[in-house]
Amino acid sequence: MKEIKILYLYPDMLELYGDYGNIQVLKYRMESRNINCVIDSYSIGDTPPDFSSYDIVFAGGGADNEQTILADDLVKYKENIKAAVQNGVFFLLICGAYQLFGKYYKGVEGNIIPGLEIFPYYTEAIADRKKRCIGNIVLEVDLKNDKPTKVIGFENHGGQTFGSLSPFGKVLYGNGNSFGDKQEGFFMGNVIATYLHGPLLSKNSEVSDYIIKYCLERKYQENIELKPLNDDFEIKCREQMLKRLKK
Ligand code: GLN
Repeated sequence: MKEIKILYLYPDMLELYGDYGNIQVLKYRMESRNINCVIDSYSIGDTPPDFSSYDIVFAGGGADNEQTILADDLVKYKENIKAAVQNGVFFLLICGAYQLFGKYYKGVEGNIIPGLEIFPYYTEAIADRKKRCIGNIVLEVDLKNDKPTKVIGFENHGGQTFGSLSPFGKVLYGNGNSFGDKQEGFFMGNVIATYLHGPLLSKNSEVSDYIIKYCLERKYQENIELKPLNDDFEIKCREQMLKRLKK
């Protein structure tokens, strides 16, 4: 039986707007295809993980306060994480975690939270606490399938991210990396870093399957055709959302 191992970072601190749902969706979509899914978690005080021994590393969103607390712990693993990214481990990073993998996050009071500096972007919060990018968001994403796919989510961030040299998607509706931006997130084959909660994967089966296929092909060194699942309900929900947002 094939197996995929997921490492869930700081589940007690980074879990806004149902981000854990992403892991539940991955597990469901793997088990429906007879792939075993192992989920380990790591938080402050736990035994240090070997990031390269996992297939997927996941971290969700968090408020500035949680980000400040865990940043000191996270930077201890900078080299280990960098090696895992280079080894091709898949990283799915949502909102607060997306920010922490960049150069730095500058909070509302001007305080700097150091990032892992693994990716080239940086994030600065707007001084006015009330000004946040909040609402539904639709992207056009190129997952290197036959055609671009629409990715639907929900964003809620004060941080404005700049310098993402390879964005996750083109914004069709919503804000993106900063107010009125045309681009959202950061993407390279084995990394999706994005502001999209939702949770992201429950609304976007294609993205889930992109991750599962990538991980299986990397681990087992063979071409993988994933058995299609019955996504009728998800498709209906997506159609409804896209109609509502006129996209
Ligand atoms: N604290 C960050 C911001 O507001 C991230 C918020 C989040 O993860 N939703 O920009």
